[in-house]
Amino acid sequence: MLFTRLSLTLAMAAVGQGNSDWYEPFPAHKVLGNTYYVGSKDLATYLITTPEGHILINSGFDHTVRLTQKSVESLGFKMSDVKILLASHAHSDHVAGHALLQKLTGAKVFVMWGDDQVIASGGKGQYMYTTSRWEPCKVDRVLQDGDEVKLGGVTLTARLTPGHTRGCTTWTWKVEDGGKSYNVVVIGSPNVNPGFQLVGNKDYPEIAVDFAKTFGILKSLPCDVFLGAHGGYYGMVERYALLKKGQANAFVNPEGYKEYVVQKERAFQKTLAAQQGKAEQGKTESGKAGQGKPPAIAAISERVQKYIAAKEVAGAVTLVASPDRVIHLDASGNAVLSPGEAMHTDSIFWIASMSKPVLATLLLMLQDDGLLNVDDPVEKYLPEFKGLKSTDGKPANLTIRHLLTHTSGMGELKPGEAKGAKTLADVIPLYLSKPVAFAPGTKWVYCQSSINTGGRIAEVVTGKPLEKLMEERLFGPLGMKDTTFYLTEKQLPRLAASYLRTEDGELQVTPIGFLAGKSPTSHDRFPAPNGGLFSTAPDYARFCQMVLNNGEFGGKRFLKPESVKRMTTIQTDKLKTGFTDGNGWGLGWCVVREPQGITGMLSPGTFGHGGAYGTQAWIDPAQKRIYILMVQRANFPNSDASEVRRGFQEAAAATLNK
Ligand SMILES: [Zn+2]
Repeated sequence: MLFTRLSLTLAMAAVGQGNSDWYEPFPAHKVLGNTYYVGSKDLATYLITTPEGHILINSGFDHTVRLTQKSVESLGFKMSDVKILLASHAHSDHVAGHALLQKLTGAKVFVMWGDDQVIASGGKGQYMYTTSRWEPCKVDRVLQDGDEVKLGGVTLTARLTPGHTRGCTTWTWKVEDGGKSYNVVVIGSPNVNPGFQLVGNKDYPEIAVDFAKTFGILKSLPCDVFLGAHGGYYGMVERYALLKKGQANAFVNPEGYKEYVVQKERAFQKTLAAQQGKAEQGKTESGKAGQGKPPAIAAISERVQKYIAAKEVAGAVTLVASPDRVIHLDASGNAVLSPGEAMHTDSIFWIASMSKPVLATLLLMLQDDGLLNVDDPVEKYLPEFKGLKSTDGKPANLTIRHLLTHTSGMGELKPGEAKGAKTLADVIPLYLSKPVAFAPGTKWVYCQSSINTGGRIAEVVTGKPLEKLMEERLFGPLGMKDTTFYLTEKQLPRLAASYLRTEDGELQVTPIGFLAGKSPTSHDRFPAPNGGLFSTAPDYARFCQMVLNNGEFGGKRFLKPESVKRMTTIQTDKLKTGFTDGNGWGLGWCVVREPQGITGMLSPGTFGHGGAYGTQAWIDPAQKRIYILMVQRANFPNSDASEVRRGFQEAAAATLNK
């Protein structure tokens, strides 16, 4: 068992229970209907049985998995019938045995977004228990708040109740017993553990907001049968004694649930007030502002605030990450100026050309699969490219590499020309009707049509539409829940408004030009990899972390390390490339050759991409650092060279390079 002494002590202190209760066997028993308790004396594991197999919530440690196995069998059920394995939250005392349980049963593992990476990596990226490790476990499905888990007529709902961990999950379902229906709630954890920093927490800046959200949700849930991640939450041992005495429905306790939630909320508020008081005191004593906030966050956010005050942008989300954690995340200013609506860390942005590296990554994944090679001629996949001639009358001989390095010379469409195109297949003939401007490979000219041609190749070799392919291969497995070509009605209110700056220095609302008047939710346009994606800072950070980790994320390999290397190494030789000086181009990525000006604070070899409305994402592999800036400003003179980008990167590098 990979578990250090220190973290064990901390985790034990956290639940106020001794080691012995965690490992002590406890009689398996029916809670109600098809719901059973199969955990140890304090580590709760629940079995929900159905005619099509069973669901288990929580594993505990390897040792408690053995206790659970005995319990399940003592009830007359088979471990091999367990089909789905769920979790309360990604702390070792609930999930360290997941890998073993997965092996024993062959069950699929479903985990809430925010905890998925921690479980998959065997404990990496946790807040607080940073050295606690367990055996990594494959996560088969990443859940979002409100997602349903269905099996054999039973439907469990996953409610995101964050704070205790980022993906802490409260499970609810209905159970039938004696002709009556009862609401079951398994609380994920409402506890502010000893050592949790609610104020100025640079590893988990939104922790206090998350806890507050959680209490709102817990109070709103209808509850008859009160259960939790630890038996101690609901007095399991005492309730079991009542059951043994013959009390019917011993676990039906709606009043106990309400009381527990109120009590825990009070405890949270008390700790929060105490920590806030301490932070305030620190401020006055030192005479400096921002003492309660770690300098990394304050320095970055204060710099960004200046550009908001100067009306360069309405608001911004800034994020700095290492390969396995978010170091800084903050939302400043407004998502909408009028009527005023604050920017949030989960605000959604049109990321425009930041879609291009995503397509390049997908194509390299398909190369790893053996479906294509970037040195292949385009006509191998799109026969209509046969006969395409360059300006000198010779065959153009375009390769996928030309497409991804902007050296194809392909012609561009004029605004409105692609209006009728509903698919990438529709748009290819339009590109082919344009003359090729130069012999491919001889010049660098930023090119939209070549990137979309690459997108069409991905569709042809897989037989799947690009939007589906990206969801299946990247966004789903990476847990990028708000990254899409087409926003849903539910996501739409989180889209930050776009602004242009007028000559007299005011910010004026402007549409996303790319959409040509259509709604961000409209599917009446093709999935354009040259610039069609919407995303959030935390989502795009996950994509960047995968690339920075040489193609691996959360224990899953997306891309071979050599493919990452190839994609992010300059392929354009000495050709002059855009949009700022000292750069070259990899496959779909801009690469900094000689840092200068706007890239002066970055290491040589840093790679990334910007978007038309000022969004930026840059990965510095030497510093192992990711910089993400999300803004929506339409008319920067050069969006890759904006002062907002400069200030953000400068403040972050200056603070973190210390
Ligand atoms: Zn916990």
